[in-house]
Amino acid sequence: MSVTGNLFILSAPSGAGKSSLIKALLEKSHDDNTRAMQVSVSHTTRDPRPGEQNGEHYHFVSVDEFKSQISQGAFYEYAEVFGNYYGTSEAAIDAQLAQGIDVFLDIDWQGAQQVRIKKPEVTTIFISPPSKQELENRLRGRGQDSDEVIASRMAEAQAECSHFNEFDYIIINDDFSQALADLKTIVYNQRLTCNQQIEKHEQLLSELIK
Ligand code: 5GP
Repeated sequence: MSVTGNLFILSAPSGAGKSSLIKALLEKSHDDNTRAMQVSVSHTTRDPRPGEQNGEHYHFVSVDEFKSQISQGAFYEYAEVFGNYYGTSEAAIDAQLAQGIDVFLDIDWQGAQQVRIKKPEVTTIFISPPSKQELENRLRGRGQDSDEVIASRMAEAQAECSHFNEFDYIIINDDFSQALADLKTIVYNQRLTCNQQIEKHEQLLSELIK
């Protein structure tokens, strides 16, 4: 039987580079053949953006379907973010963890608060931009958004950032390769905790004290 996977939450304001970091971490997962890593696919009521695939980026569902799943207790956590519902399926996460997969939740601070209550062993990571100015540059660099849209996204970013001190770790995403190395360090650390090592090396450790 494999060792139970670890659960991680990554939260960040939009523009901090969280998605790129998670993508790079998972691409590198072949470096370490001891543990598979997967990002959880959330349910959302928002419309797919160009290029987004149902079941891959999100499970895109109607508001009625989402509410019915809430009433069935299907979610570890759910929240309304920017006018749409987002939620994490409990059964899917538990199945992945039981298979020994490290699971990453890309969710906002509200979801992080709920998961912490249900799963206190979760490791939570806040990804910060290197500065407010750089965050604004990144948001502007993404497209043709008006000043008004940029101002509202900056306000949303500030709201997300106001929760940074609730997280176990903070990664400053200034130099991308350093931020990725930091993220890997946190993930690998969790595999060396006493509980994990006892599960993995049960026989060896019990022989030591015979
Ligand atoms: P987007 O619509 O840009 O993909 O995501 C918007 C925000 O919703 C991001 O901050 C993202 O982390 C958050 N989010 C995505 N999935 C979930 C989820 O399942 N639960 C919660 N609480 N937030 C989510």
